[in-house]
Amino acid sequence: MKIAYVVSEVFPFVKTGGMADVAGSLPRYLKANGQEIITILPLYQSIDTKQHKIKPSKISLTVELVGQSYEFDVHECTRHGVKHYFLANAFFFEREEIYGNYADNYLRFGAFCHAVILLMQALDFQPDVYHLNDWQSALIAFLVKEVYHLPSKVLLTLHNLAYQGVFDKHAIDHLEIGWEWFTVEAFEFFDHFNLLKGGMTFSDCVNTVSPTYAEEIKQQPNGNGLENFIHLHESKITGILNGLDIEEWNPQKDANLYKHYNSVTFKERKINKKNLLKELGLKEEQKPLFTFIGRFVKQKGLDFFMHTFEFLQELEINLVIVGEGDNEYALFFDKIRTKYDNVYVYMGYSESLSRKLYASSDFLLMPSLFEPCGLNQMIAMRYGAIPVVRKTGGLRDTVQDFRDTEKVEGKHGKGVVFTKKDTVSFLVAIMRAISLYANRQKMNRIARKNMELDFSWEEASRAYIQVYQKLIL
Ligand code: ADP
Repeated sequence: MKIAYVVSEVFPFVKTGGMADVAGSLPRYLKANGQEIITILPLYQSIDTKQHKIKPSKISLTVELVGQSYEFDVHECTRHGVKHYFLANAFFFEREEIYGNYADNYLRFGAFCHAVILLMQALDFQPDVYHLNDWQSALIAFLVKEVYHLPSKVLLTLHNLAYQGVFDKHAIDHLEIGWEWFTVEAFEFFDHFNLLKGGMTFSDCVNTVSPTYAEEIKQQPNGNGLENFIHLHESKITGILNGLDIEEWNPQKDANLYKHYNSVTFKERKINKKNLLKELGLKEEQKPLFTFIGRFVKQKGLDFFMHTFEFLQELEINLVIVGEGDNEYALFFDKIRTKYDNVYVYMGYSESLSRKLYASSDFLLMPSLFEPCGLNQMIAMRYGAIPVVRKTGGLRDTVQDFRDTEKVEGKHGKGVVFTKKDTVSFLVAIMRAISLYANRQKMNRIARKNMELDFSWEEASRAYIQVYQKLIL
């Protein structure tokens, strides 16, 4: 089958979150399983074309919208056998941030969507399926069905329903959509223009990145105002759990680590902890190391840290926080950054530090309020750090509490799970982790078992192929 995979970020070219990891790995597995797949994304100024050997092609495209012409030059590269097309338009994409809070975001990504369709024509590539991701590419569903009247089917993957691409309703004019589509069934959302909602309407199938999240979005608060609309479209919504790129995330090969290891040579892992603590200026290696890595947004449960911090820093633990994002959290973590001997805060994005942390931490904290899938917990388990998670979305689907797995023959492993959204439950989970740490033999057994779990994309890519096949029947 011919698949056009359209997405606004792809690892390693550009990444703000898990969607980039997915886009950087799923197409490769789909290709290995027989699909003819290409990916298409914008060429942002932050993408290092030299490093990734991205070259200009001979194709350029002109999108006409409301009497304006927007030129897109097409660039390309091949990585792990998958061809990536980058659409360049200096006005739209040479900006400091890839999303930012730009008032014309609907136009930046709306014009990009038109350009994607023109690119398929220029390449003479008639996709059997357009596989879209989140609001940035969602307009393509409408363009395929109602503007260009193409025979292609459309699958839209929802990576996070908290981001819907909601704009002033006059975007309808600027994108030449026609007010007849400004209805509750299509783009209208509380008198605003909603790209993701319109995308869901015109897609043949919609999937979320975990089965539990597919259920959770049918209700408040995870429906984010779309819960009734989602009920209406229930029959075309499924959940497919993300995989992990196990080549990319491999403690036996990861170039950032002090020492490579696997579940058999697990003892070597502590060399990573020893060196990293030294590098970060943290003392007392015998204390458990707890880590948080992620975007500083409410979703990730950062309020739990803020509300319990006075208590946390008193515990016999080392705590590392890595991330960047909303001001309220950035200010808080900045304030405590240099205050405590057992706390280290890195404000920013660091691939290398995060990888060292997965290989050194005893516990990875993910107290998310909601989590469509979450990759960190899978990376943690693959690297032998035990996840401490709230039971929601993909965390529920990937991490069972070790007390429950213990009861099932041959199934030990996984993490510490708490359910309620309150600080007491969060602290109890941390205390349970600390007492597990006191029984090092048991803890290492769990960690080693986790390292042997199969998080690969094999199963998920087969599930996606089944969806494609159903669509074109
Ligand atoms: P989300 O997509 O909601 O941000 P995921 O758990 O799906 O969360 O994916 C997060 C990905 O981003 C993981 O690969 C994680 O290691 C990485 N990541 C997040 N924040 C940082 C950071 N500050 N530094 C390095 N890696 C980060």
